[in-house]
Amino acid sequence: MIVGAPETRSPHACRAAGWVLALSVGVALGVAAQQKKLGYSDTPLLPGGKWHVHDGDRPQPRMVDPGTASTQDAPGRPPSDAVVLFGGKDLSAWKASTGGGPAGWKVENGEMVIAPRAGQIETREEFGDCQLHVEFTAPTEIKGEGQGRGNSGVFLFGRYEIQVLDSFNNPTYPDGQASAIYGQFPPLVNASRRPGQWQTYDILFRGPRFAPDGSLREPALATVLHNGVAVHHATRVLGPMSHKQLPVYKAHAAKGPIALQDHGNPVRFRNLWIRELRDPD
Ligand code: MG
Repeated sequence: MIVGAPETRSPHACRAAGWVLALSVGVALGVAAQQKKLGYSDTPLLPGGKWHVHDGDRPQPRMVDPGTASTQDAPGRPPSDAVVLFGGKDLSAWKASTGGGPAGWKVENGEMVIAPRAGQIETREEFGDCQLHVEFTAPTEIKGEGQGRGNSGVFLFGRYEIQVLDSFNNPTYPDGQASAIYGQFPPLVNASRRPGQWQTYDILFRGPRFAPDGSLREPALATVLHNGVAVHHATRVLGPMSHKQLPVYKAHAAKGPIALQDHGNPVRFRNLWIRELRDPD
Protein backbone atom coordinates (compact mmCIF):
# COMPACT_ATOMS: atom_id res chain seq x y z
CA MET A 1 0.00 0.00 0.00
CA ILE A 2 1.14 3.56 -0.70
CA VAL A 3 2.33 5.30 2.44
CA GLY A 4 -0.03 8.12 3.40
CA ALA A 5 -2.85 6.90 1.15
CA PRO A 6 -6.32 7.84 2.44
CA GLU A 7 -7.77 5.09 4.59
CA THR A 8 -11.11 5.54 2.81
CA ARG A 9 -9.73 3.91 -0.33
CA SER A 10 -11.04 0.46 -1.06
CA PRO A 11 -8.60 -2.41 -0.41
CA HIS A 12 -8.81 -3.23 -4.13
CA ALA A 13 -7.78 0.30 -5.14
CA CYS A 14 -4.96 0.22 -2.59
CA ARG A 15 -3.63 -3.03 -3.98
CA ALA A 16 -3.84 -1.74 -7.54
CA ALA A 17 -1.96 1.45 -6.62
CA GLY A 18 0.67 -0.62 -4.85
CA TRP A 19 1.20 -2.78 -7.92
CA VAL A 20 1.52 0.29 -10.15
CA LEU A 21 4.12 1.74 -7.79
CA ALA A 22 6.03 -1.54 -7.57
CA LEU A 23 5.95 -1.90 -11.34
CA SER A 24 7.21 1.60 -11.99
CA VAL A 25 9.98 1.23 -9.40
CA GLY A 26 10.94 -2.08 -11.00
CA VAL A 27 11.02 -0.57 -14.48
CA ALA A 28 13.08 2.38 -13.22
CA LEU A 29 15.56 0.04 -11.55
CA GLY A 30 15.78 -2.05 -14.72
CA VAL A 31 16.49 1.00 -16.84
CA ALA A 32 19.09 2.18 -14.31
CA ALA A 33 20.74 -1.25 -14.39
CA GLN A 34 20.80 -1.16 -18.19
CA GLN A 35 22.27 2.30 -18.23
CA LYS A 36 24.81 1.64 -15.50
CA LYS A 37 28.19 1.17 -17.08
CA LEU A 38 29.82 -2.03 -15.93
CA GLY A 39 33.57 -2.35 -15.97
CA TYR A 40 35.93 -0.74 -18.46
CA SER A 41 36.61 -0.48 -22.19
CA ASP A 42 39.79 1.64 -22.05
CA THR A 43 41.87 -1.16 -20.55
CA PRO A 44 44.28 -3.47 -22.41
CA LEU A 45 42.88 -6.25 -24.58
CA LEU A 46 43.24 -9.71 -23.09
CA PRO A 47 45.11 -12.32 -25.18
CA GLY A 48 42.89 -13.28 -28.10
CA GLY A 49 41.88 -9.67 -28.65
CA LYS A 50 38.17 -10.03 -27.97
CA TRP A 51 37.68 -8.56 -24.51
CA HIS A 52 39.30 -5.82 -22.50
CA VAL A 53 40.46 -6.33 -18.93
CA HIS A 54 37.29 -5.88 -16.78
CA ASP A 55 35.22 -5.58 -19.98
CA GLY A 56 31.66 -4.68 -18.97
CA ASP A 57 30.23 -5.77 -22.33
CA ARG A 58 31.43 -9.33 -21.84
CA PRO A 59 28.45 -11.72 -21.51
CA GLN A 60 27.33 -12.37 -17.96
CA PRO A 61 27.63 -16.02 -16.89
CA ARG A 62 24.16 -17.52 -16.68
CA MET A 63 22.70 -18.30 -13.27
CA VAL A 64 22.71 -21.95 -12.15
CA ASP A 65 21.12 -23.32 -9.00
CA PRO A 66 24.05 -25.31 -7.58
CA GLY A 67 21.84 -27.92 -5.91
CA THR A 68 22.74 -29.61 -2.65
CA ALA A 69 25.40 -32.03 -1.42
CA SER A 70 24.60 -35.64 -0.63
CA THR A 71 24.72 -37.14 2.84
CA GLN A 72 25.21 -40.78 3.76
CA ASP A 73 21.44 -40.99 4.25
CA ALA A 74 20.19 -39.19 1.15
CA PRO A 75 21.40 -38.16 -2.27
CA GLY A 76 21.74 -34.45 -2.92
CA ARG A 77 20.10 -32.42 -5.65
CA PRO A 78 22.08 -31.94 -8.90
CA PRO A 79 22.86 -28.47 -10.29
CA SER A 80 19.93 -27.08 -12.26
CA ASP A 81 21.72 -27.40 -15.62
CA ALA A 82 22.95 -30.97 -15.12
CA VAL A 83 21.81 -33.90 -17.23
CA VAL A 84 20.63 -36.50 -14.73
CA LEU A 85 21.96 -39.92 -15.71
CA PHE A 86 20.37 -41.73 -12.78
CA GLY A 87 18.05 -39.99 -10.35
CA GLY A 88 16.75 -43.02 -8.44
CA LYS A 89 13.89 -44.13 -10.64
CA ASP A 90 14.88 -45.99 -13.79
CA LEU A 91 17.62 -46.83 -16.24
CA SER A 92 16.07 -45.00 -19.17
CA ALA A 93 19.29 -43.02 -19.78
CA TRP A 94 21.25 -46.26 -20.18
CA LYS A 95 21.60 -49.15 -22.61
CA ALA A 96 23.69 -52.29 -22.80
CA SER A 97 27.14 -51.53 -24.25
CA THR A 98 27.00 -54.79 -26.17
CA GLY A 99 24.07 -54.97 -28.55
CA GLY A 100 22.46 -51.70 -27.45
CA GLY A 101 19.48 -53.38 -25.76
CA PRO A 102 17.98 -52.26 -22.42
CA ALA A 103 20.43 -51.93 -19.52
CA GLY A 104 20.22 -55.15 -17.50
CA TRP A 105 21.13 -53.73 -14.12
CA LYS A 106 18.64 -53.47 -11.22
CA VAL A 107 17.05 -50.52 -9.47
CA GLU A 108 16.56 -51.06 -5.72
CA ASN A 109 15.70 -48.45 -3.07
CA GLY A 110 16.45 -45.66 -5.51
CA GLU A 111 19.84 -47.16 -6.25
CA MET A 112 21.26 -48.67 -9.43
CA VAL A 113 22.83 -52.05 -8.73
CA ILE A 114 25.12 -54.07 -10.95
CA ALA A 115 23.47 -57.38 -11.81
CA PRO A 116 26.64 -59.43 -12.19
CA ARG A 117 27.16 -60.74 -15.70
CA ALA A 118 24.44 -58.45 -17.07
CA GLY A 119 27.30 -56.68 -18.80
CA GLN A 120 28.61 -53.15 -19.14
CA ILE A 121 26.11 -50.34 -19.62
CA GLU A 122 26.52 -46.90 -21.18
CA THR A 123 24.54 -43.71 -21.60
CA ARG A 124 22.28 -43.35 -24.63
CA GLU A 125 23.39 -39.72 -24.90
CA GLU A 126 26.97 -38.83 -25.78
CA PHE A 127 29.05 -36.13 -24.11
CA GLY A 128 32.25 -34.20 -24.75
CA ASP A 129 34.35 -32.36 -22.17
CA CYS A 130 32.44 -32.65 -18.92
CA GLN A 131 31.95 -32.49 -15.19
CA LEU A 132 30.73 -35.91 -14.09
CA HIS A 133 29.38 -36.71 -10.62
CA VAL A 134 29.23 -40.35 -9.52
CA GLU A 135 28.23 -41.90 -6.19
CA PHE A 136 28.86 -45.54 -5.40
CA THR A 137 29.09 -47.94 -2.52
CA ALA A 138 30.96 -51.23 -2.39
CA PRO A 139 29.17 -54.41 -1.27
CA THR A 140 29.10 -54.80 2.52
CA GLU A 141 29.52 -58.53 2.17
CA ILE A 142 33.29 -58.73 1.78
CA LYS A 143 34.07 -61.20 -0.95
CA GLY A 144 37.28 -61.61 -2.87
CA GLU A 145 40.39 -59.50 -2.66
CA GLY A 146 42.44 -57.15 -4.79
CA GLN A 147 40.74 -56.59 -8.14
CA GLY A 148 37.96 -59.02 -7.13
CA ARG A 149 36.44 -56.77 -4.44
CA GLY A 150 33.89 -54.12 -5.33
CA ASN A 151 35.24 -53.72 -8.84
CA SER A 152 33.51 -51.54 -11.42
CA GLY A 153 34.67 -48.55 -13.39
CA VAL A 154 33.63 -45.25 -14.91
CA PHE A 155 34.56 -44.91 -18.58
CA LEU A 156 34.68 -41.44 -20.17
CA PHE A 157 34.08 -41.53 -23.91
CA GLY A 158 33.39 -45.22 -23.30
CA ARG A 159 37.13 -45.91 -23.03
CA TYR A 160 39.11 -43.89 -20.44
CA GLU A 161 38.61 -45.61 -17.08
CA ILE A 162 38.49 -44.14 -13.60
CA GLN A 163 38.62 -47.31 -11.54
CA VAL A 164 35.91 -48.20 -9.03
CA LEU A 165 37.13 -50.67 -6.40
CA ASP A 166 36.73 -51.36 -2.70
CA SER A 167 40.14 -50.03 -1.70
CA PHE A 168 39.41 -49.90 2.04
CA ASN A 169 41.99 -52.31 3.54
CA ASN A 170 42.27 -54.11 0.22
CA PRO A 171 45.74 -53.80 -1.32
CA THR A 172 46.15 -54.24 -5.06
CA TYR A 173 48.53 -52.82 -7.66
CA PRO A 174 48.38 -49.03 -7.12
CA ASP A 175 47.36 -48.12 -10.66
CA GLY A 176 44.36 -50.42 -10.25
CA GLN A 177 42.98 -49.17 -6.94
CA ALA A 178 39.92 -46.97 -6.41
CA SER A 179 40.04 -43.69 -8.37
CA ALA A 180 43.16 -44.72 -10.30
CA ILE A 181 43.32 -43.93 -13.98
CA TYR A 182 43.36 -47.64 -14.53
CA GLY A 183 46.69 -49.06 -15.60
CA GLN A 184 48.32 -45.61 -15.73
CA PHE A 185 48.20 -43.40 -12.64
CA PRO A 186 47.46 -44.30 -9.01
CA PRO A 187 45.46 -41.67 -7.11
CA LEU A 188 47.61 -39.17 -5.20
CA VAL A 189 46.11 -40.56 -1.97
CA ASN A 190 43.70 -43.32 -1.02
CA ALA A 191 40.57 -41.45 0.16
CA SER A 192 38.36 -44.56 0.25
CA ARG A 193 35.51 -45.08 2.70
CA ARG A 194 34.60 -48.47 4.12
CA PRO A 195 32.17 -50.75 2.23
CA GLY A 196 28.53 -49.76 2.61
CA GLN A 197 29.38 -46.05 2.89
CA TRP A 198 28.57 -43.80 -0.04
CA GLN A 199 31.56 -42.42 -1.91
CA THR A 200 31.76 -39.73 -4.56
CA TYR A 201 33.80 -39.11 -7.67
CA ASP A 202 33.76 -35.64 -9.14
CA ILE A 203 35.51 -35.91 -12.48
CA LEU A 204 36.52 -33.02 -14.72
CA PHE A 205 37.47 -34.50 -18.05
CA ARG A 206 38.78 -32.85 -21.17
CA GLY A 207 38.72 -35.19 -24.12
CA PRO A 208 41.76 -35.70 -26.35
CA ARG A 209 42.13 -33.66 -29.53
CA PHE A 210 43.02 -35.36 -32.76
CA ALA A 211 44.43 -33.94 -36.01
CA PRO A 212 42.50 -34.56 -39.25
CA ASP A 213 44.89 -37.42 -40.08
CA GLY A 214 43.91 -39.12 -36.80
CA SER A 215 47.17 -38.43 -34.97
CA LEU A 216 47.02 -37.24 -31.39
CA ARG A 217 47.21 -33.47 -31.02
CA GLU A 218 46.51 -33.17 -27.27
CA PRO A 219 45.97 -35.96 -24.75
CA ALA A 220 42.90 -36.16 -22.54
CA LEU A 221 43.17 -34.36 -19.19
CA ALA A 222 41.59 -35.74 -16.02
CA THR A 223 41.01 -34.03 -12.70
CA VAL A 224 39.34 -36.22 -10.09
CA LEU A 225 38.11 -35.63 -6.54
CA HIS A 226 37.46 -38.79 -4.53
CA ASN A 227 35.17 -38.01 -1.61
CA GLY A 228 36.10 -34.36 -2.10
CA VAL A 229 39.85 -35.06 -2.01
CA ALA A 230 41.93 -34.26 -5.11
CA VAL A 231 43.48 -37.47 -6.45
CA HIS A 232 44.32 -36.38 -10.01
CA HIS A 233 45.07 -32.84 -11.07
CA ALA A 234 45.00 -32.14 -14.82
CA THR A 235 46.64 -35.52 -15.35
CA ARG A 236 47.58 -36.28 -18.95
CA VAL A 237 45.83 -39.50 -19.76
CA LEU A 238 48.05 -41.91 -21.72
CA GLY A 239 45.23 -43.47 -23.72
CA PRO A 240 42.23 -45.79 -23.41
CA MET A 241 42.03 -48.33 -20.60
CA SER A 242 44.12 -51.36 -21.32
CA HIS A 243 45.06 -54.36 -19.22
CA LYS A 244 48.66 -55.54 -18.89
CA GLN A 245 49.80 -53.45 -21.85
CA LEU A 246 50.53 -49.87 -22.81
CA PRO A 247 47.55 -47.80 -23.90
CA VAL A 248 47.43 -46.46 -27.47
CA TYR A 249 45.25 -43.54 -28.55
CA LYS A 250 42.93 -44.12 -31.46
CA ALA A 251 41.07 -41.16 -32.99
CA HIS A 252 37.41 -40.88 -32.04
CA ALA A 253 34.55 -38.39 -32.15
CA ALA A 254 34.42 -35.28 -29.96
CA LYS A 255 31.62 -36.91 -27.94
CA GLY A 256 31.12 -40.37 -26.49
CA PRO A 257 29.05 -42.23 -23.91
CA ILE A 258 29.72 -42.59 -20.20
CA ALA A 259 30.01 -46.32 -19.49
CA LEU A 260 29.92 -48.27 -16.23
CA GLN A 261 31.71 -51.57 -15.93
CA ASP A 262 30.24 -54.89 -14.81
CA HIS A 263 33.16 -56.70 -13.22
CA GLY A 264 30.96 -59.27 -11.49
CA ASN A 265 30.53 -57.42 -8.18
CA PRO A 266 27.18 -55.90 -7.05
CA VAL A 267 28.42 -52.31 -6.65
CA ARG A 268 25.60 -49.81 -6.09
CA PHE A 269 25.31 -46.34 -7.67
CA ARG A 270 23.12 -43.30 -7.03
CA ASN A 271 22.85 -39.62 -7.98
CA LEU A 272 24.68 -39.73 -11.30
CA TRP A 273 24.76 -36.49 -13.27
CA ILE A 274 26.85 -34.73 -15.87
CA ARG A 275 27.38 -31.20 -17.14
CA GLU A 276 28.98 -30.67 -20.52
CA LEU A 277 31.67 -27.99 -20.43
CA ARG A 278 32.32 -25.58 -23.23
CA ASP A 279 34.88 -22.87 -23.67
CA PRO A 280 33.84 -19.57 -22.00
CA ASP A 281 32.27 -16.84 -24.20
MG1 MG B 1 37.28 -51.73 -13.08
